[in-house]
Amino acid sequence: MTDVASTNSTAASAYRTMLDIIGGVEPRIADATRQELTDQRESLKLIASENYASLPTLMTMGTWFSDKYAEGTVGHRFYAGCQNVDTVESVAAEHARELFGAEYAYVQPHSGIDANLVAYWAILNKRIESPELERLGAKTVNDLSEEDWETLRKTFNSQRVMGMSLDAGGHLTHGFRHNISGKMFHQRSYGTDPESQLIDYDKLRADAKEFKPLILIAGYSAYPRRVNFAKMREIADEVGATLFVDMAHFAGLVAGKVLTGEENPIAYADVVASTTHKSLRGPRGGFVLSTAEYAPSIDKGCPMVLGGPLSHVMAAKAVAFAEARQESFQAYAQNVADNAQSLAEGLMRRGVKLVTGGTDNHLNLLDVTSSFGLTGRQAESALLDSGVVTNRNSIPNDPNGAWYTSGVRIGTPALTSRGFGADEFDTVAELIVDVLKNTTPVTASTGKPGKAKYALADGVAQRTKDASAELLGKFPLYPGLEL
Ligand SMILES: *Cc1c(COP(=O)(O)O)cnc(C)c1O
Repeated sequence: MTDVASTNSTAASAYRTMLDIIGGVEPRIADATRQELTDQRESLKLIASENYASLPTLMTMGTWFSDKYAEGTVGHRFYAGCQNVDTVESVAAEHARELFGAEYAYVQPHSGIDANLVAYWAILNKRIESPELERLGAKTVNDLSEEDWETLRKTFNSQRVMGMSLDAGGHLTHGFRHNISGKMFHQRSYGTDPESQLIDYDKLRADAKEFKPLILIAGYSAYPRRVNFAKMREIADEVGATLFVDMAHFAGLVAGKVLTGEENPIAYADVVASTTHKSLRGPRGGFVLSTAEYAPSIDKGCPMVLGGPLSHVMAAKAVAFAEARQESFQAYAQNVADNAQSLAEGLMRRGVKLVTGGTDNHLNLLDVTSSFGLTGRQAESALLDSGVVTNRNSIPNDPNGAWYTSGVRIGTPALTSRGFGADEFDTVAELIVDVLKNTTPVTASTGKPGKAKYALADGVAQRTKDASAELLGKFPLYPGLEL
């Protein structure tokens, strides 16, 4: 039984009171909050990056820690009166270090993107600032002239990074143009093998030797496989790169010891960044782990990159990390991975083509164009009409581009939190296939097949909703929390 699936009747009166108080100020917000619980309870949440946090984690965010300014670091704040925030931040960092076995943890980042920016800043700061300052004859940045700054800016901005390509499952923050990282860095991406759709480490090594990145980035948002971080480390060492791992998606599998040995990034990376709210099941936020060497640079994250820390969220991170240190979290993480396998088998048995031919982490990427003749957007919409919440996603060398896409990404972290097991995920596979088999692309009047419009056969949405309701009814979310 997971935290979100155990009885919470004593919390019900507290939440009812809270919502009445909120409703007294702005009833629409109280109503939307109640409705959001209903919607989350009644839909099949398959978005691979979402989860359900425990009530203690959620409750921790609703306190007066929100009112406190605490720029700086523990014991070194730019505001007075931060003794309790210091406690919160120290406890959260301690839990993060212990949970992941890291030398250093920084728990201030407000989100995964912010955590990555802190990491980039720290790496640039450590790798470039010191030698450059020396070369410019300066002791600290305060000694630099405007001209020196211009030189430094050019040096900072012309660094090379290598990360996984977007269509192979990489993330925008790994040097792509819609993110500041793409403006800061010259980027070359590595993709996957055209046949196996798996990372081709030999090709990656050859490309890295040619490109010589300052930072080698490992990590993904939509790659349904494990990464060998020992190999990544070897490649980084061969080219003198810092190995940066973005484990935003799979942090829960690391915390839950599903990813160990060469699949555990902490043992190999210089710097690791993550979200707290995906498979890790904490509050919405981010954090950075590193070796002791990078700690002083990472500590400068606020105010260098980040606004004042969200102390109430740091407190909730501490609670969630404490939960993840319990043995039950390891069972949860193993179930997440096992369930992803069951889901993959259920889909493939029913004729669905999966990118890489399966999964060994928490997510599946369906090639809906090959399997059903639909775009990702059509599939995503038809599923949503049927109460199945997923998101469209590019697949490697996507014929439909990054907007319509050819893929649908689904993950098991959220429904596993509710208690779903292998049988339930097999039913989920059946429901997904039923919806997609009964969806047809609508041809536009131009004669070209439409990429956006679709038609769902009569009755399919309702029968899917009925079947989901039956399934979800057996695994209530926050049972007893009646508002
Ligand atoms: C989700 C994600 C992020 C961004 O996290 P936010 O909290 O939304 O900013 C960064 N990197 C990867 C790999 C992700 O999957």
